[in-house]
Amino acid sequence: MNKIKQSSYDLIIVGAGSGGCSAAIEACKKGLTVCLIDRKPKELIGKKVCGDLIGQAHIKFLENKMRLKYPKDKIECIINQTETINTKNKKSYLSYEKGYMLNRHTFGQFFLAHTKKLGVTIIDNQKVIAPIIKNDFLIGVILKDNDSGNETKIYSKIVIDSSGAISALREKVKIKGTYLENKIKKSDFAVSLRQIRTLKKGLDFTHAKLILSEKYAKSGYIWIFPYSKTKVNVGIGVPIKGKVPNLNNALEAFIKDNKIFDNSKIIDSGGGIIPLRRPLDSMVSNGFMVVGDTASQVNPITGGGIGQSILAGYIAADVAYKAIKKNDFSQEGLWEYNLKFIKFNEYSQKKGDDTKYYNGTLQANLDVVKQFYQSSSEEELEYISNNYLNDDIFKNLSIKGQFSISSKLKIKIIIAIIKKPKIFLKLFNMAIKIKKISKLYKNYPKTPKEFPKWKNKIDKEYQHINKLLN
Ligand SMILES: Cc1cc2nc3c(=O)[nH]c(=O)nc-3n(C[C@H](O)[C@H](O)[C@H](O)COP(=O)(O)OP(=O)(O)OC[C@H]3O[C@@H](n4cnc5c(N)ncnc54)[C@H](O)[C@@H]3O)c2cc1C
Repeated sequence: MNKIKQSSYDLIIVGAGSGGCSAAIEACKKGLTVCLIDRKPKELIGKKVCGDLIGQAHIKFLENKMRLKYPKDKIECIINQTETINTKNKKSYLSYEKGYMLNRHTFGQFFLAHTKKLGVTIIDNQKVIAPIIKNDFLIGVILKDNDSGNETKIYSKIVIDSSGAISALREKVKIKGTYLENKIKKSDFAVSLRQIRTLKKGLDFTHAKLILSEKYAKSGYIWIFPYSKTKVNVGIGVPIKGKVPNLNNALEAFIKDNKIFDNSKIIDSGGGIIPLRRPLDSMVSNGFMVVGDTASQVNPITGGGIGQSILAGYIAADVAYKAIKKNDFSQEGLWEYNLKFIKFNEYSQKKGDDTKYYNGTLQANLDVVKQFYQSSSEEELEYISNNYLNDDIFKNLSIKGQFSISSKLKIKIIIAIIKKPKIFLKLFNMAIKIKKISKLYKNYPKTPKEFPKWKNKIDKEYQHINKLLN
C-alpha cells in the first residue's frame, strides 16, 4: 500500500498525464507544495492509446518556456509534413507543420521523472473518487487505494483536475454561483481505435497522412503516422453521432485495402475517446481548475491535445500560484486562467520565430470548421475540394481556422457558385460564423460577473450554427 505522509498541500493535481505533470512542474518551481495523484502505478504512467504525434511548437514550448529539453534520441521520427487525402476525388493537401513521433510511455515517464526531481509528492495506484466541498469551496479529494480499497482524504487550497476525457471530478464539482461547465455533450466526443503495426514492406513516405473517407470513417478520418519505414501508428476516429460504425471492422477493411499493410503485424492496439469542441466556456470554480482533456482543450480538427494540455498546465500553475499568494482561491481569483488559455499568444513574441501558437480562440474557430465538415456529404466535400480549395486555403482553414477565397481562383469560383449556390452559401455562412466567434472570444469576460451575458451570446451562436448546418 502507498503510504500517504502528508494530508495537506497548496495544490492537489489529479492525473499525471501531460497536463497534470506540466502543472506540477511549474507549480513546484514556483515554490508551492504539490501532490500529484494517479490511479496507475508509477511505472505505467504516460502509457496511453494515442497517435503519438506532437507539433514542433509544443516541444519548443517545453524547451523555451519550461526549460525542459526532451532528448532528441527519444524522438522516434521527425514528421516534416502532413498530407490530407480525400479518397473520393483522390485530391490531397499538404501542410508543412513540423512534428515529432513520440513513444508516449517514454514521454510520460520523462515528465514524471521531472516532477519527482523537483520534489512533487507523487501518489500512484490510487484513484480519486470524490471531491470534498465545504462552504462552497473545493477543499480536497477522497482517494481509494487500488490494492487495499482503503479510502483517504487529502486537502489543498486548490485542486487541478487533469484526469483526462472521463474526468474524475468535473461533473461532481457543482458549486452555486460558479460557472464551470460541468458536462461535455456525448456528440462532442470522438471515439477512436489505434493500432501500432510493424510492416513487412518498407514505406515509401515518412510524413503523416490523414485520410478522409466516407467508406471507412464517415465524418471522421483515418491516420497513418510513421515511427520508421517499417513501423506505423494507424487509427480511426469518428464522432459519437447517430450510429457509430464498428471501428474494428472499419479499420480492418481499410488495412485490407491498402497494400502497405500486407503481412503487417499488430504490436499494440487500443481504443480511446477524445473531446472535440471548443474549450469549456469556463474552466474554473471555487478552489478548482480543469486542464487538458478534462477541459476539452483538444484541437477539434486533428484530435491533437498533448501540446495543449502542457500549455494549459503551465498557465494553470501560474494562476494558482498567484491566487495562493493573494489568498483568493475563489472563481474570481482563478478567472485569469480562462482568459489566458483563450488568448494565449506568447509563442510569437520573439522576432523571427515562426512557431505558431495555440489558444482557446483558435480552438473555437476550428470547432466551427469541424461542425461544417461533419455536416457535409461526401459529394459536397468533393465539390468544395474540386472548386474552392488549394493547399494554402486548406491550410488556413484546417490549421488557423480562417477561411478566405483566393482571388486566383475567382473565375473558377464564380462558375462553382452558379452551379451549386447552396454549397457556396454554406461556405459563406461558415466564414461569417468564424468571424463572429473570434470576435466573441476577443471579448471574453474579464471577470465572472460579465460571464452569463457572454455565455448567452456564445450559446446562441453555436445553436445557430447547428441550425444552419443540420
Ligand atoms: C486514439 C487517440 C489518438 C490521439 N492522438 C493524438 C496525437 O497524435 N497527438 C496529440 O497531440 N494528441 C493525441 N490524442 C489526444 C491526447 O492523447 C490527449 O489530448 C492528451 O493525452 C491529454 O492529456 P491529459 O493530461 O489531459 O490527459 P491524459 O493523458 O488522459 O492523462 C490523464 C491521467 O489521469 C489519470 N486518471 C484518470 N482518472 C483518474 C482518477 N480518478 N484518479 C487518479 N488519476 C486518474 C490517468 O491514469 C492518466 O494518467 C489522441 C487521443 C486518442 C484517444
